[in-house]
Amino acid sequence: MRKLMYLVLVLALVLGLGGQAFAQTYVVGTSADFPPFEYIEDGEFVGFDMDLMRAIADEMDFEIEFRDISFDSLIPGLRTGTIDIVIAAMTITEERKQAVSFSDPYYVANQSVIVKEGLDRDLTVLFGDNRIGAQTGTTGDLWVTERLYDQGILTGQVVRYETFDLAIEDLVNENVEALVLDRPVAERFVEDRPLILVGEIITHEEYGIAVDRGNEELLQKLNEGLQRVIDSGRMGELIDKYFR
Ligand code: GLN
Repeated sequence: MRKLMYLVLVLALVLGLGGQAFAQTYVVGTSADFPPFEYIEDGEFVGFDMDLMRAIADEMDFEIEFRDISFDSLIPGLRTGTIDIVIAAMTITEERKQAVSFSDPYYVANQSVIVKEGLDRDLTVLFGDNRIGAQTGTTGDLWVTERLYDQGILTGQVVRYETFDLAIEDLVNENVEALVLDRPVAERFVEDRPLILVGEIITHEEYGIAVDRGNEELLQKLNEGLQRVIDSGRMGELIDKYFR
């Protein structure tokens, strides 16, 4: 009898803790150099995407752990399984869809061009013998490469950077003549640096959260969570917090 009670007690403990201890943990990859979407402040992951991901995890009862990885390593990370989810202001593109599956879109943005202030530069910096910087593998990189460089419109160089911190530093130091990047992020970078935004490229890019291709179960959770975050008004609060 005692043995049986003991067994029942142990079972109850295991089952009771189960809910807590066995809550699924997903590793979320991001590239934390992209304010206001993802950046690091006082050693913490902060930004719109980070809060959005936390809100979705909250709604759907799973745990998350963020990993900071260079942008062009995020999709390979999903493929090899070192990360489960990517949230990185990542544009949904046909090419990326060959490798990964995207959630419903959660944000729309255009590309933009920024230059150093006070040098009398404008959008024509993109034509001719100039050095134009972009982050490796981003839609900005692809736009500059395919629409300008490959067409012979930009005859100088496309300079590719692993992280935006380095790109911004090079622009400030005049090692490149311009950078092409997502407009909401460009706006943030020019706020407190000697840089200005001289043009917008209407690309109408939709950002999505990515999982390895065919991981329908996880995708379903993300989409349901995203919808709940929108319906509860939390999405609106996050937009106010980071974009107003
Ligand atoms: N939206 C762009 C892309 O998907 C840039 C993303 C980024 O640099 N984090 O390529």
